[in-house]
Amino acid sequence: MRVSVDPDECVGHGRCYVVAPDVFQPDVLGHCVVIRPEVPEEFETAARQAAAACPEEAISISS
Ligand code: SF4
Repeated sequence: MRVSVDPDECVGHGRCYVVAPDVFQPDVLGHCVVIRPEVPEEFETAARQAAAACPEEAISISS
C-alpha cells in the first residue's frame, strides 16, 4: 500500500500524524510529511484511519 499527500490541500490540521505517527510526521509549519510512502503492513490500518481523519481529504491511498 502506498500513501501520498497533496501539499496544495494539506493545511496542517495535524490529525494524520497524531493518528499514524509511523507514517506521517509534521514539517516545521505543521504540514504533513509522509515518512513511509510504502506503508509497512503493520501500519496500514493506522494509515487508513489517518486518511479518513483528514478534513481536507489530502491523503491518497493506492495499492
Ligand atoms: S490531517 Fe490532512 S490537512 Fe492535516 S496535516 Fe494531515 S494531511 Fe494535512
